[in-house]
Amino acid sequence: MSAQQLVLRQRAELVQALCCGGTAEPLDSVLDLLLSWSAFEWEDYLNVCCGTAKTLCSRSRELLDLAYSKGDDACCHLLTAFHQVLPDAQKDTLNFGSTYTAQKSQEGEISATLTLLGDRPGLVTKLRNSVDEALDELVQKGFLTSSECEDIQLPVHTASQQVRRLLDIVKFKGEGAAKVLLQFLQKSQIEAVPQPTNEKLIIPTSVAEYQKKLCSSISAQSHFLSTYSPTGRFSLDDVYTEGLLELGQQGCGNTTLVSVTLEDVVGATGTVNVEADTVLVSGEAGSGKSTFLQRLHQLWARKTVLQNYLLLFPFSCRKLNTEHRELSVKDLLFLHCCWPDGDQEELFQFLLDHPHTVLFTFDGLDEFKQAFADDQRHCSPTQSAKVPVLLFNLLQGSLMKGVRKLVTSRTEAVSFTLRPYLCKEVLLKGFSPDGIDCFVKKHHSDPGVASRVLQSLQSNTALLGLCHIPVFCWIVSKCYKELLGFSSTGPQTITDVYLMVLQHFFHRRISSGKTSGKSWLQEHFRTIMALGKLALQGLEHSHYIFSESDVQNLGITEEDIGKGFLIQNKNISLDTKHYEFLHLTLQCFFSALFITLDPSNNMHSIIPRLFQTPSSSMGCLGICHPRKCDQPGNEPPNHEITSMFVSGLLSPCHHSLLLQCCPIQTLQRKCKQVMKCLSKGMHNHFKSIPQPIKGEKKSMHAMPAFIWLIKCIYEMQDSELAKSVMAKLEAEHLKLTYCNIGPLECTALAFVLQHLKGPVGLQLDSNSVGDVGVEQLLPCLHVCRSLYLRHNNITDEGISKLVEKGVECEAFQKIALFNNKLTDACAQHFAYLLKTKQNFASLRLGNNNITAAGAEQLAEGLRCSPSLRFLGLWGNTVGDAGAEAIAHALEDSQTLEWLSLVDNRVGDAGAQALARVVEKSSTLKELWLNNNSITRCGVEYLLQALERNSTVTALWLTGNILSQEEVEELSIRESRVTF
Ligand code: ADP
Repeated sequence: MSAQQLVLRQRAELVQALCCGGTAEPLDSVLDLLLSWSAFEWEDYLNVCCGTAKTLCSRSRELLDLAYSKGDDACCHLLTAFHQVLPDAQKDTLNFGSTYTAQKSQEGEISATLTLLGDRPGLVTKLRNSVDEALDELVQKGFLTSSECEDIQLPVHTASQQVRRLLDIVKFKGEGAAKVLLQFLQKSQIEAVPQPTNEKLIIPTSVAEYQKKLCSSISAQSHFLSTYSPTGRFSLDDVYTEGLLELGQQGCGNTTLVSVTLEDVVGATGTVNVEADTVLVSGEAGSGKSTFLQRLHQLWARKTVLQNYLLLFPFSCRKLNTEHRELSVKDLLFLHCCWPDGDQEELFQFLLDHPHTVLFTFDGLDEFKQAFADDQRHCSPTQSAKVPVLLFNLLQGSLMKGVRKLVTSRTEAVSFTLRPYLCKEVLLKGFSPDGIDCFVKKHHSDPGVASRVLQSLQSNTALLGLCHIPVFCWIVSKCYKELLGFSSTGPQTITDVYLMVLQHFFHRRISSGKTSGKSWLQEHFRTIMALGKLALQGLEHSHYIFSESDVQNLGITEEDIGKGFLIQNKNISLDTKHYEFLHLTLQCFFSALFITLDPSNNMHSIIPRLFQTPSSSMGCLGICHPRKCDQPGNEPPNHEITSMFVSGLLSPCHHSLLLQCCPIQTLQRKCKQVMKCLSKGMHNHFKSIPQPIKGEKKSMHAMPAFIWLIKCIYEMQDSELAKSVMAKLEAEHLKLTYCNIGPLECTALAFVLQHLKGPVGLQLDSNSVGDVGVEQLLPCLHVCRSLYLRHNNITDEGISKLVEKGVECEAFQKIALFNNKLTDACAQHFAYLLKTKQNFASLRLGNNNITAAGAEQLAEGLRCSPSLRFLGLWGNTVGDAGAEAIAHALEDSQTLEWLSLVDNRVGDAGAQALARVVEKSSTLKELWLNNNSITRCGVEYLLQALERNSTVTALWLTGNILSQEEVEELSIRESRVTF
């Protein structure tokens, strides 16, 4: 019988089923489901719901009639909805036919409004206990009025009905309101995500024994760092230094970077996709991803962290590259991680039954030979498949759903295809300044040596900038003797640092004291070239692990290996030896040496390929160049590092060294080639800048390749090249937001940008510039008309240096420092800036920690500024005293146009003082005072002042202490005020 017939035949029973309880809840729940499945249009829903005078029975009949008139499909949906909503006892007597299975919505962008509709039944349950909070949020964000709230909260409505009314109103308010509600839900949901608990879990003996074995194997594997020989004196415990971990961009305009701990990385914090199991830890090469994972493994094995995970399976993507067999997940786990001595079946069944107690980690997805793809489904944990298929299905969650997967990768290598399967992204940003300090002290047990190393870093800020990346910090610490031996500048570029480590390794091994009269490069030329060839061949085929025969075929001897650049990888096979470079960056460096020093023509053809810029259509975030299996030389992250080294080696600074082993013609030709590639790359970049819209500045948004090209130019240390490249840039504004810019990149940027033809706006918001980065930027401050450094971990110390230089830079007129780590101590510097620089126009210091004391200091400068037009202090705590000080200082300003003291605990006294600014000013256009504690009394001062002011166009006062009646009354009096 068709669904339509079933509805008709059972009409009376169905109506009865909906009405017998006397509440509208079953009917409303059925409607929720029909809406979410798109079986009913919004109009249908309103038809059934509208008219409060209708009885429950008449609404139920209308529902049935409507479904019937819509046809068989709608009736099938209706019966399914009844089946889901009615209690079992009521279902016995009804025939539901074959019920409809809800499909998961198609992938791709769907609007927030549609998401709310699709999730409606679930939302009713989820929001039931937090309607008031949700309403508050919507009111605060300006999407609901208080009378709409009161209407929703009428006590005649049940909590579920209140949610439904809320959802209905939000739908009509549109996308903005829907987004706010979704964000609210996400926040509250994340807070409520239950942590898997192992209480009451009965652990079979086979699992307990396996856990023990796994722990001891992981413990042994994680004891030493691979960059320190196992016989060395350092264990991971000795040298591990916490790196900076930050949650990735949350989308939806949330730009706050949140720091997280090691445990948070795996936990619920920062979850953006609750359906996904995979957490990504991303960072650049050498930022400490593998070491972080190693620490996590070690602490888990010691039962110090993540004890809700009974079993942890560590994988290395490098090693997975060497697995060519077809395997099942079960085989993969046992063969690659730890072989079970007990009952395999029972153990594996336990994993399947308790996925939430299991953690898989995959180190170095960027080194996996094949780029992530989601086109091949494989769901069976016991059926065999190729390793890439297994890995990709694990990450997607189609295999072993519920098991937490933690994967590390270089940021540039994360594909857009993978992103939808990520539960969250955590960025590993290397060491903080304190981290560098701590690392150096751990590395040198002699405090005297440690402090000399740190001193020499302080005097070479370019090198200090590099040390934020742990692998460079390690090299610098390792080569401390060479470092302390430098009389003047010391290493400046990454290439300098790697040349230093090369010499260090070679010298360390020269014990005989024999000197042949040759330079170190000549003496070790054969070894360097053999290792270089191995490195390059590896990169071209995504090989990071080399067999003994790979090594021998290139004439690499035991003695060469003994130099220490290659280390043995003991995890591949017990029978034969396998080697890898000490770190990927070292493999890239040896490749670069080979490319630079090998005289054959092949190397000339490699250079243009190496410097090929990716399509300029790609955005700065989530950059990806699709990798294809076995496609040689198609790995941008490796390309980028290698080409940087090639640029560095071809720098005029190193010509005399290289000429010892390379004919001058070859060197010159390659040098020319690289310079041409860099110029062309930058030029292409500039050409892609769109023409400005009329009235706007010509603005350049950085494409992924921009920072890389800048870094290559810096490595070359060729100011003439920088000058000639910059001569072609026409933009007036450079936007480099979210580009992963740390101190190292700042050094390179300043080296190049200082040659700009005229002043620009430099926008570096949401990067990791920090105080060291600020210092590195100073050489280009004279070409910055405005400098945007929002969200950049900058403290008062950085500001002190910035201002010291800033006062000397005529063009420098605007600075934005929203959301940094500034305190009252920064105010004296800004006061000095305002007093000294008589053309300074804009100071934005929102969301820092400035109190009344800071405001009072700042006022000293404000009073003397003949030019300040914009002052932003949103989200500080200056209070009444601070507002009064600022107001008094600005009373006679002839230039102030815009002032914000939003969210600053300003009360009536502050308002009264600010009213005098309004009254006296003939330039002020906007005054922002939302979210303060101003009452009617304070508002009166402001309104009276407005009566005598004709320049102000907007005064913002929402979120102050006013009743609804007061708002209504005051709104009529002055149209320029928004309450
Ligand atoms: P990535 O995996 O991001 O390329 P690694 O974890 O291999 O970087 O780090 C490279 C080197 O830097 C390590 O071998 C180690 O010497 C040093 N290092 C990285 N992170 C840390 C840390 N947290 N503490 C101490 N040393 C570290």
